[in-house]
Amino acid sequence: MPEPPRPAADRQQLVRQARRHGVRDRAVLDAMARVPREEFVPRRCARHAFDDRPLPIGRGQTISQPAMVALMAEAARLDPDSGVLEVGTGSGYGAAVLAELAARVVTVERLEPLARRARAALARLGYANVEVVVGDGTLGRPATGPYDAIVVTAAGPAPPPALVAQLTDGGRLVMPVEAPDHRQDLVRFTRSGDGVGTEVLFGVRFVPLIGEQGFGPGHSRVF
Ligand code: SAM
Repeated sequence: MPEPPRPAADRQQLVRQARRHGVRDRAVLDAMARVPREEFVPRRCARHAFDDRPLPIGRGQTISQPAMVALMAEAARLDPDSGVLEVGTGSGYGAAVLAELAARVVTVERLEPLARRARAALARLGYANVEVVVGDGTLGRPATGPYDAIVVTAAGPAPPPALVAQLTDGGRLVMPVEAPDHRQDLVRFTRSGDGVGTEVLFGVRFVPLIGEQGFGPGHSRVF
């Protein structure tokens, strides 16, 4: 007889992978143990739900590598009172992890079918503190800002000014930035009064951020 699934035990694998990548924040590791990644992965990929790699979710997009979700959540420095904007909902998995760590999460996805699926998964799992919005996330969502943290899950050419403007004083924008030679780095921008501090964290590989303050729709994807 096949072994019955053991999602809670399998999720410990995600915690070990995140630790191996250097994640130390206890709250982030606990969130990785709680969020059922298997519920956000297409059924045909279910057996890979606990692998440490991105998986296709349709429309040429991916659910991010779980360790990357953990690293970005840690870099955002959240606390239970934080208000967070996520740009690039994808499957909704990253939003669920952020929702475990913050008071409220607004997540924006440009592709309506993905947003619809993510909204359904998040509602089914009881994430009442997440709002999924369809639109161009490079413009942010001023109506529900400012935000203590903004996490962008696609790579843009530079931090969108609209997002920087929607940070609280001390707020963090964590996003992959792509150089003209297509190299990408995860960067944390921290707003301080009218200034912005920049920390380059490490090299990454993400799908393009397509929008008014991102790349144009014809931007080539280099994988
Ligand atoms: N965090 C997601 C998850 O856990 O499944 C993974 C997101 S995937 C790597 C990046 C997403 O960003 C894609 O779904 C893509 O459609 C979306 N995206 C790209 N440009 C966008 C924009 N301007 N506004 C909103 N979403 C955008």
